Amino acid sequence: MSPSTVTVTGSGIDPVAIRRDFPILEQQINGHALAYLDNAATSQKPTAVLAVLDQYYRRDNANVHRGIHELSRRATSAFEDARSRVGRFVGANDPGEVIFTRGTTEAINLMAHGWGLEFLNEGDEILLTTMEHHSNVVPWQLVARRTGAVLKWLELDDEGRLRLEALDRTVNSRTRLVSLTHVSNALGTVNPVADIVRAVRYRSEAVVLIDGAQAVPHLPVDVAALDCDAYAFSGHKMCGPTGIGVLWARRSLLDAMPPFQGGGEMIRIVRRESSTWADLPHKFEAGTPDIAGAIGLGTAVQYLEGIGMSRIARHEREVLHYALDRMSTVRDLRIFGPSDPCERSGVISFTLSDAHPHDIATILDAEGIAIRAGHHCAQLVMRHFGVAATARASFYFYNTTEDVDRLVEGLETVRTVFA
Ligand SMILES: *Cc1c(COP(=O)(O)O)cnc(C)c1O
Repeated sequence: MSPSTVTVTGSGIDPVAIRRDFPILEQQINGHALAYLDNAATSQKPTAVLAVLDQYYRRDNANVHRGIHELSRRATSAFEDARSRVGRFVGANDPGEVIFTRGTTEAINLMAHGWGLEFLNEGDEILLTTMEHHSNVVPWQLVARRTGAVLKWLELDDEGRLRLEALDRTVNSRTRLVSLTHVSNALGTVNPVADIVRAVRYRSEAVVLIDGAQAVPHLPVDVAALDCDAYAFSGHKMCGPTGIGVLWARRSLLDAMPPFQGGGEMIRIVRRESSTWADLPHKFEAGTPDIAGAIGLGTAVQYLEGIGMSRIARHEREVLHYALDRMSTVRDLRIFGPSDPCERSGVISFTLSDAHPHDIATILDAEGIAIRAGHHCAQLVMRHFGVAATARASFYFYNTTEDVDRLVEGLETVRTVFA
């Protein structure tokens, strides 16, 4: 199934053509055209992905790596092709290093169990940042409790950027793991990951894991250029189905790690007392995988490649600039995160005078505008800024300046309601 063709103008994207690929965007919500601005929570799916899921179940459905029959051959080859494609998309050319997981959360938990519980000892240090999604906090708290390892934190400045000058003091020979997000889901801050990896390598032999859930959908990502050791991301935030994601990690790291879960598909030989493991990547994929999900993610990647990640990034930057500009005209609006748009991606967290973020989201919903309100699974960020919650608008390549105009009009309505 080839992805539908998209008209691209010289400087970027033709959103009108793009939006035709996303049938969900055509509907009315509460009598208004839908303005979907909750892309940091999940993205919508293009018809190419919907079609490949339907076709897989109608025509090719079978279990993978087992049968000798035609359907199993088709399912296996589509599943493994998807793995290679998704890997290449992030610069990982060895498909053995591409582990399919349920998403970013499971990918990080795989590292926490497979690497953290196995290799960390009392007094070892794990460096996290206070910008992390709870998915990159709680697994390490659990590991620290069981191993005696100690959690250290890289703090934020007033604009929600990492205080990188503190790397000097916080990374040392006891640092065994550094795990941080590429792009903040709560603030939109884009972290200079390659520079951070270099600084960590200079001071320690720590393993570096990157949470790429908000980066892979929006920016060109190359794990080789970043020089990290492991990288996690989710399919559903990049036009793919829910329930599928990826842990990429260096072969040497994965080889050293014991399996995460035991079961079918991940063994070589099973005897009464013990078993041996299948080769990578299957060692970390116990049980029947989300075959359709992986194939759907492969098609999502093909679709994104058809548009081009640089174009996607450029379009989102244009929408972001426009939004920051327009929103600065709304009185009593406070925007969190870096003031320099070049340091952020298409996420805008804000509060509006004393209005509760949930009330803001409810009033906007009545006008067909979908945003998020809450702590965005980043309570440490909320605490840093002394707020319980924010409202958050987040863009993708199918959003337009018209969506932004609708948002700004909606915010003016919120202001009148609360005036
Ligand atoms: C969404 C998100 C996660 C969690 O992803 P799941 O798909 O829910 O597993 C982790 N980190 C960041 C930065 C995210 O945006």
